[in-house]
Amino acid sequence: MEIPPLIQIGSVLSADEMRRYSRHLALPDISKIGQERLKKSKVLCIGAGGLGSPVLMYLAAAGVGTLGVVDFDVVDETNLQRQIIHGQNDVGKSKAHSARASILEINPFINVVVHDVELSTLNAIEILSQYDLIIDGSDNFATRYLVNDAAVLLGKPCIWGSIYRFDGQASVFWADYGPCYRCLHPQPAVNVANCAEAGVLGVLCASIGAIQATEAIKIITGVGSPLIGTLMIYNALEMSFEKIHINKDPLCVLCGENPTQFGLLDDYASFCATAIDNELSVFELRELLERSQDYLLVDVREPYEFDMMHIPGSMLMPLGGFLDGSALAAVPKDKEIILYCKVGIRSATALDILKAAGHSRVRHVSGGIVAWLENIDPHLGAH
Ligand SMILES: [Zn+2]
Repeated sequence: MEIPPLIQIGSVLSADEMRRYSRHLALPDISKIGQERLKKSKVLCIGAGGLGSPVLMYLAAAGVGTLGVVDFDVVDETNLQRQIIHGQNDVGKSKAHSARASILEINPFINVVVHDVELSTLNAIEILSQYDLIIDGSDNFATRYLVNDAAVLLGKPCIWGSIYRFDGQASVFWADYGPCYRCLHPQPAVNVANCAEAGVLGVLCASIGAIQATEAIKIITGVGSPLIGTLMIYNALEMSFEKIHINKDPLCVLCGENPTQFGLLDDYASFCATAIDNELSVFELRELLERSQDYLLVDVREPYEFDMMHIPGSMLMPLGGFLDGSALAAVPKDKEIILYCKVGIRSATALDILKAAGHSRVRHVSGGIVAWLENIDPHLGAH
């Protein structure tokens, strides 16, 4: 998908800038007009950590005229293995200010705006609205949903990246042209530890951060095809890059056909905590099926879907029965109820209904039967 340049009319370059950016000016697709667009652009990077480091350093070198940095953390010695925008002498200092000093060392021609605050529902719209494009280099679900929601509400593109052990992902979420983060993940995924617990290969940050910086330059200048509606999946051990097509979700609460969310949530931390408490992964489900009898596994899809394949031991209760209340009497209260559907959207609705009806022991399967097929039993449909 080709889209028009985010910045239509750029800022005039000085003679010094023309010299500095001569290798960009020599590129036919960027040239002087593209470099002027970069100079005019304002990019906000959420986080000056693993992803933010390469993103900020390369966008600074590329001549993005205004770079905003949001980070309220201080540099810790264990950050230096991957957060290369900071050095030994920055330990104990504010990450946002340390990043600013490094950026200006790379390129004194640009403006750096420091937001040494924790991004929250109270300040996100005000901060994001000052920029043309957002780059999400955050490391937690609460911030990701907050950044996504604010970017969608403001109609701005958000370039997302994530890293985990040896794996990385990146995409461009821009509701005007394609899906948002909520279309991909309506609920936070379970069992994803942060970098501190899971470990992360330091150089992975460069691979994913470089993709994010590249996408930013492409979108600002209108060059090439950005990762809109595409999830890039990188595995460092296999040295593989895989592109997966992702659709806009018509049921997305934020950018779908009948949106129900028109502002930021009051509390993103509790949104993520609640969602995670209510889910179990397919791995946890497998363990439960092997070990316990004290549960009822309920498939809330339609009968034809159940007939094609279902997780062994499950019973069928289509979502419609939850919506009109007719199925509720058949749901026992003395067992834990485990709900699943195709990918976890219908089961989340059934879960809300059961909770509202007074069932306290209810969870649903993250990723649904699709995750079960991918991770537990790829031959399920062949039985
Ligand atoms: Zn969406």
